[in-house]
Amino acid sequence: MYGPPQQVGGGDASLSDQWRVDAAPVAASAAADRESALVIDVAGLRMAYDGFEAVRGVDLRVRRGEIFTFLGPNGAGKTTTVEILEGHRKRTGGEVRVLGEDPQHADRRWRARVGVVLQSSRVERELTVRECLELYAGYYPKPRPVREVIKLVGLEKKAEARGAQLSGGQQRRLDVALALIGDPELVFLDEPTTGFDPSARRAAWEMIAGLRELGKTIFLTTHYMDEAEALADRIAVLNAGVIVAEGTPSTLGGRNQAAYEISFGLPDGVTVDALPFPARTLSEPGRVLIESTEVMATLHALAGWAIERGAEVGDLRVRRPALEDVYLALTEPAA
Ligand code: ATP
Repeated sequence: MYGPPQQVGGGDASLSDQWRVDAAPVAASAAADRESALVIDVAGLRMAYDGFEAVRGVDLRVRRGEIFTFLGPNGAGKTTTVEILEGHRKRTGGEVRVLGEDPQHADRRWRARVGVVLQSSRVERELTVRECLELYAGYYPKPRPVREVIKLVGLEKKAEARGAQLSGGQQRRLDVALALIGDPELVFLDEPTTGFDPSARRAAWEMIAGLRELGKTIFLTTHYMDEAEALADRIAVLNAGVIVAEGTPSTLGGRNQAAYEISFGLPDGVTVDALPFPARTLSEPGRVLIESTEVMATLHALAGWAIERGAEVGDLRVRRPALEDVYLALTEPAA
């Protein structure tokens, strides 16, 4: 992963373990692994802290070149899982393969193939953006050119600014740049756009999508549903240490089979009972909602009913449940 040993944070694996260079089988296993489409392969992962099981049998498969997104409420076990995948924490059970190796026993060469953007910043306050990237580039066997990475994260105008002079969002971009400088195959992004203004978030999304274009595999953890919707090829939702759903943004939790929601303002003088379909009233006065799995037929009948009466159906909206609706239903605390 990233540079100097003292920057490795958080977990329980010892530094000597993390930076030990194994001799023989690495080249062969790396070559075999390049052929493999599976970058992350996890079966039955468990992690207990003093008897409390934070991760309770997680299975995960991430394919090369995809943006895999991890969603889940606070305390679901996302960070614990990601730290295990990054080799920063020792698990208590299960099988884990990342880039063909067990991260718990992986060496420095494996780390150079993995980039990590943590929630906490690694920006050096006294170094300029360029100097900081040059420093980190020195830790990797085949770094990307510094200038190219600065451009990739959109920090060209700040290349000569010191870390201490960067805004929060710019520091975050530099964090991403530091994760990319070693030209990793797999990049872990932990809530990468927290604190970004809307236009910086859009720019970050473009940058992340650009990483996919470069063939990188991205493991993204986020609390933003629009971010997941915009970027994810696949999403897994973790709740209380268990994966409760997995799918694409449009299929997650059966979203593509869920009923459409048709809402509109009631015509003047019409009550909800007079409508041709069962409908319920919404909190907005005079507005009602019909749920339908046959949306065209329902709309057709509704239009016919309204035209026949010369009634005006106001502000008609049709939508599938939003990703956030699906997510909230999946992670709802038990009553
Ligand atoms: P968030 O969205 O808030 O970052 P998370 O999904 O990343 O949450 P984790 O940080 O993995 O959740 O925590 C999962 C559970 O494990 C929580 O109940 C947390 O209190 C517990 N936990 C995490 N780290 C430790 C630790 N070092 N020792 C004891 N318990 C821990």
